[in-house]
Amino acid sequence: MTTKKQAVERILSSTLSDKIRHSIVGRLKILKDKGCWIINDNWDHYAGNGLHRKIFEAFNGEVGSNRCICHKCDRPGCINPDHLFKGTNRDNTSDAIKKGRRYENTPTSLKYSKELRKLRQRDRWNQLDRFAR
Ligand SMILES: [Zn+2]
Repeated sequence: MTTKKQAVERILSSTLSDKIRHSIVGRLKILKDKGCWIINDNWDHYAGNGLHRKIFEAFNGEVGSNRCICHKCDRPGCINPDHLFKGTNRDNTSDAIKKGRRYENTPTSLKYSKELRKLRQRDRWNQLDRFAR
């Protein structure tokens, strides 16, 4: 497993921009169980702003616009380049389903998505309402 010192060295010697490198190094924590690299106190929090893509590309080469970055470790907040892999959007969805992060088409989830649609619809009406005033 990578130590924090090794991780910092890898980040600093990468092609990532100065700003990204320093922001990562200042916040980096290594989780001992799977060796995840975390930059947010909530390890489940998605890093955002295409950061995974930038990190993947800096360490593993180009991703391509029709591909997405998935996690082997199933932690959306992890930025360890060794835990990231290139997948299609379909991979990402089926991967998430396999790992229980998405609802499959079970009767319960269908009911759930129906309700969600209803809520969204209501929300849209509320917004329209606000604009109407
Ligand atoms: Zn990880």
